[in-house]
Amino acid sequence: MSASPSAARAFGPPIVIAHRGASGYLPEHTLVAKAYAHALGTDFLEQDVVLTRDDVPVVFHDLVLEEVTDVEQRFARRRRDNGHWYVIDFDYAELATLEVRERVEIASGAAAYPGRFQERLPLRIQSLAEELALVRGLNAATGRRTGVYTEVKSPAFHRAAGKDLSPAVIATLAEFGYRGRDDAAWLQCFDAAECARIRVELGSTLKLVQLVGENDWREAATDYDDLRTVAGLKRVAAYADGIGPWIPQIVRWPRAGAPPEFTTLVADAHAAGLAVHPYTFRADQLPEHAPGAAAVHEALFATAGVDGLFTDFCDVTLAYLGRRPWRTP
Ligand code: CA
Repeated sequence: MSASPSAARAFGPPIVIAHRGASGYLPEHTLVAKAYAHALGTDFLEQDVVLTRDDVPVVFHDLVLEEVTDVEQRFARRRRDNGHWYVIDFDYAELATLEVRERVEIASGAAAYPGRFQERLPLRIQSLAEELALVRGLNAATGRRTGVYTEVKSPAFHRAAGKDLSPAVIATLAEFGYRGRDDAAWLQCFDAAECARIRVELGSTLKLVQLVGENDWREAATDYDDLRTVAGLKRVAAYADGIGPWIPQIVRWPRAGAPPEFTTLVADAHAAGLAVHPYTFRADQLPEHAPGAAAVHEALFATAGVDGLFTDFCDVTLAYLGRRPWRTP
């Protein structure tokens, strides 16, 4: 066991973040996936947000449409020369006519997660405001206070297209009462310059997570190798409340049957005053050589002492944490 007891005192009980909703069971970011995660008792529902051509913030993970919608059949001629259909090239009313379904590998057309929901139904893309209305309505009807955990996607890409995503996200959250650090909301972004801008220039007091990738993913201009150092984490702590690293940046299983090997990232982040919410637990795609779902949760929560987890299977994570169903007779 490591630094978890002090972390628990500093950051409270660990939180469960339903990554793109109950995406292990229903197509990511659809309202049904969000409603199901709410019913399963998650603490937070995640939104990825991108802007449409007519500047509507919509809940969608990719910058391009073809992996989770029928855009190729519906708008064949709207493909860019690079072979992709971009969200930002469509008006919201057009996007709302697309059918959303489980993710496919474009090259092969095969399901990205073959064990997941494979039915075709009239599921669609919703705006951030529509999703926040769903959360408000479900919280009111159930008496819960399920929060939102909202990602500003690729701000530099939006800026290059003449659009400013962060103020649109912050304004929409504010319309639904998410204005400051005591509200049940977190903001997240991979771009360190944008995270700092959200706090300083835009003056948001929402809880803020600096997402941490690998430099070769080219998610942002941010140098994540530097950001993960003790000095880098101290700089992050000047504007953010936590970090969201990739699970292998915390723990890896070097080979089948071998015990897990831990980095010092969680302890270093805690020492800087930062909460740690890694991504992403997938019961159907465990970290390489990990022996099972329970072992992954044990390594993250009990040994490394993380403060939350992005999970495609929020019920599995809630069960590990011993969380009871929220409504008892
Ligand atoms: Ca995300």
